[in-house]
Amino acid sequence: MKVMKFGGTSVGKPERMRQVASLVTKGTEPAIVVLSALSGTTNSLVEISDHLSNGDRAKAKQCIDKLEAHYHSFIKELVKEKGPYEKAQAIVAEHFEFLNIILRISFSEALSKDILAQGELLSTKLFSTYLDEQGVDHLLLPALEFMVIDNYDEPKINDIRTRLNQLLRKYKNKKLFITQGYICRNSKGEVDNLKRGGSDYSASLIAAAVNASVCEIWTDIDGMHNNDPRIVKKTVPVEQLSFDEAAELAYFGAKILHPASIWPAQKFKIPVKLLNTMQPEAHGTLISEEAGSVGVKAVAAKDNIIAIRIKSSRMLLAYGFLRKIFEVFEKYRTPIDMITTSEVAVSLTIDSPVHLKEIIKELEPFGSIELDKNQTIISVVGNEIAQTNDMVKKLFGSIRNIPVRMVSYGGSPHNISLLVPAGYKTQILRQLNKGMFGLE
Ligand code: ADP
Ligand code: ASP
Ligand code: MG
Repeated sequence: MKVMKFGGTSVGKPERMRQVASLVTKGTEPAIVVLSALSGTTNSLVEISDHLSNGDRAKAKQCIDKLEAHYHSFIKELVKEKGPYEKAQAIVAEHFEFLNIILRISFSEALSKDILAQGELLSTKLFSTYLDEQGVDHLLLPALEFMVIDNYDEPKINDIRTRLNQLLRKYKNKKLFITQGYICRNSKGEVDNLKRGGSDYSASLIAAAVNASVCEIWTDIDGMHNNDPRIVKKTVPVEQLSFDEAAELAYFGAKILHPASIWPAQKFKIPVKLLNTMQPEAHGTLISEEAGSVGVKAVAAKDNIIAIRIKSSRMLLAYGFLRKIFEVFEKYRTPIDMITTSEVAVSLTIDSPVHLKEIIKELEPFGSIELDKNQTIISVVGNEIAQTNDMVKKLFGSIRNIPVRMVSYGGSPHNISLLVPAGYKTQILRQLNKGMFGLE
């Protein structure tokens, strides 16, 4: 069994969806196809939900109508025969009726999750209708029946495995399964999701659950590039990454992968391939236990970072001091990304401002606190880079003019991270492209 995940742009236009159909029907190996919502849909659903939470029903209604019109023109081009077209119309009508009903209900967080789930429900049902029109035998597997998270929003991998395999056993004669990425049920049994970009995470969890031969992530670019192609003009695909390298890049901002999407595949040793739907013959990136080569592979940037410095000449070197600080972050379930210490101060970074006020209040008794908001972590990733000759010289040599606030070196042999004010992100990514990869 293999898993094939297609992102928003891969299904965002009728001709692309048709191309996806030809890709998933090519091989002989049974496949579970995981689809995202059509590109732009989840953004629109977030907008609808935001308008409703602000009590602005008129604006929410406008967005719903605009999105509905988009789906009507989409299905007109996707399916041509009368029967499938009527079925597609009924699917669109059903989901937009649901959104229109929500307009009249009082807003809640749970309702917002229901709104966000409509995109993946629509894309998979419409794709299934197109496959029906083409006479392709397949089965739609409802992700809400097997994708479950606990009350800390962590996927329950054992439950996912049991439920999914139970479902698959029922349909032993089927070779092609279609399911929704991103959506799941939480510990209360409500509809929930795996956070933005979560379809990659769904795919990796599904691959782990069925012990797939490979987890293919099909997107709009030919693999993980050495730098962020949205910011830097000349970037090149990386042929091979180890799970550790890919996990660092995903966590530290390479948008092509959801930050948590590597661990399930890594835990169950399932190779991941990043492939381009628009250019299926391209090599893409293979992610497995093998790094392939030593040295720098890629850089990535993670935005909206808050740096916290705790200064205390009296207590810092006392044992137990760091534990007390970490306990504050643990209490508020706020992960720390970078940390550096000196004789008189400790600096660390977080990416979530949700409990910032409470955290600061609890840290104040330990010393004076300085906050730097709007920072960016730049991560340089590669197999054993810390031991690569000239690495550090090249790295710092190429960014001499940039005020670096923190450096993390040696935490992992695959990563060197720098914290810089967000305004320097573009400049540093471009300078590193030249200095470390020789690309302008
Ligand atoms: P999908 O909708 O298929 O999930 P995403 O938009 O989430 O696709 O991810 C693909 C995009 O990630 C690319 O179009 C590219 O702009 C962006 N991206 C950011 N950093 C990288 C990188 N290092 N390598 C490749 N793509 C990257
Ligand atoms: N549709 C969801 C999003 O846009 C999930 C995904 O595309 O991976 O965030
Ligand atoms: Mg994505």
